[in-house]
Amino acid sequence: MTVRRALVDCAVLSLQDTCVFYPSCKGCFSRIDVEQQDTTRYRCFRCGYRCLKEQVDYRYRLSLSVTRDSRIFGVTVFGSTLNPFFGIHASELQKLVENLDGSVEPSTRFALLGKAV
Ligand SMILES: [Zn+2]
Repeated sequence: MTVRRALVDCAVLSLQDTCVFYPSCKGCFSRIDVEQQDTTRYRCFRCGYRCLKEQVDYRYRLSLSVTRDSRIFGVTVFGSTLNPFFGIHASELQKLVENLDGSVEPSTRFALLGKAV
């Protein structure tokens, strides 16, 4: 996979999506989903990679609204470049969020996480 990086000098206005990480394919970094026939496994529909639920890697994805030179536009930042920002790998943060008190709804967890970001 080709890795492209760009340095963008801008000011962040807001977070566009409260989902700040996603289950990631180890082969192509695409989002992977639970298999319908076997919910203990995840599969990448782009490259065919499969793994058990316990082996899923998570990857950061921040979708931001930013401004520069009086223009407003969207920027999406992916991957381990965000580890220093969060201070933890995305997979570890996902485990912390998942293991919160069970009385908190998943949508509330992500809303709180979005506010924290
Ligand atoms: Zn893949």
